[in-house]
Amino acid sequence: MNRKKRRRHSKSIVIKTVTYVVLILLLFLLIVFIVSRFDKPPEDEVSDTGITAADSKTIGTASNSVGSQGGNESEILIITTAEETEGTDELADNEWALYLVNNENSLPADYDNTLENEIGLTLVFSDYRDYFFDDRAAPYLIKMLEDSAEDGVNLYVVSTYRTQEYQQNNLDSSVNDRMAQGMDYDTAYADALESVALPGHSEHNAGLAADIMTPSYTSMEDDGFKNTEEYEWLSKNAAKYGFILRYPEGKQNVTGIIYEPWHYRFVGVYHATKIAESGLTLEEYFKENGWVDENGKATKHLGPIAEDVPAANDSPAVTLPPDMITVTVNTEMGNPILVE
Ligand SMILES: [Zn+2]
Repeated sequence: MNRKKRRRHSKSIVIKTVTYVVLILLLFLLIVFIVSRFDKPPEDEVSDTGITAADSKTIGTASNSVGSQGGNESEILIITTAEETEGTDELADNEWALYLVNNENSLPADYDNTLENEIGLTLVFSDYRDYFFDDRAAPYLIKMLEDSAEDGVNLYVVSTYRTQEYQQNNLDSSVNDRMAQGMDYDTAYADALESVALPGHSEHNAGLAADIMTPSYTSMEDDGFKNTEEYEWLSKNAAKYGFILRYPEGKQNVTGIIYEPWHYRFVGVYHATKIAESGLTLEEYFKENGWVDENGKATKHLGPIAEDVPAANDSPAVTLPPDMITVTVNTEMGNPILVE
């Protein structure tokens, strides 16, 4: 009886000790949790898009996980979201980015030089070649790529800034391919222009366009990229970072370019959001705001002032440089074309 009692007594001591240890552990965990909360920034500094809100001051540096330049650090700007600029002065941040580049509106002939020496280009990442973007827009592209990766979406940038010389090579090669298929020069040239912009008339020359796909789908032979989850993510989120789908489906008669689910153009968050909501193309958006004349020439320029560049068909065919990547596409006619 006594023994039994003692055993029971010692059993209850063990239970008590275990309970104390558990309580102490829980208390410790609670303290750790509370302390860790203080290390985090206040929630109101981060918007629900994941973009740090407020004005356009530089907030510091962040490791560029998109790039592969030996851990180079790139400055991340605080990005103004559309919600914050709504109702404020229309000339919001990045208004400079709102300009037309198309067959009617060209970049200045020396824009490469301006971009490279005065505005600056940011190396977004390196692959088989270096991918550059306009300094002012690059942080938005980098942020978009980083955030998509966090969402488990695998965006793959296929093309960014191209020099006008590079664009000329694209066009020449495209025309030559068509002529090799039996087209006469004029037909080949007109056909090529449906998918390759004239040098100085490509948004890639402006350093504001990125062709984005996904490693498991890089074919530009059709518009199948639109069936990927990466495209779905871009459709939902690109505007938050200032990008628009520039050549939408069924709008070739307006944009002059075939449907390209991969081509995204930076116009700034405010206008990208407006354009995405309206479903308009950039050409239609300009028209609706009265910023183009009857010939489609932009009358509002906040970006580079357009001036005519030498007509592409005046220049001789050029041999492609060895590092040139051409994307060959088969159209219904069976003619290889290059894409914008
Ligand atoms: Zn493109």
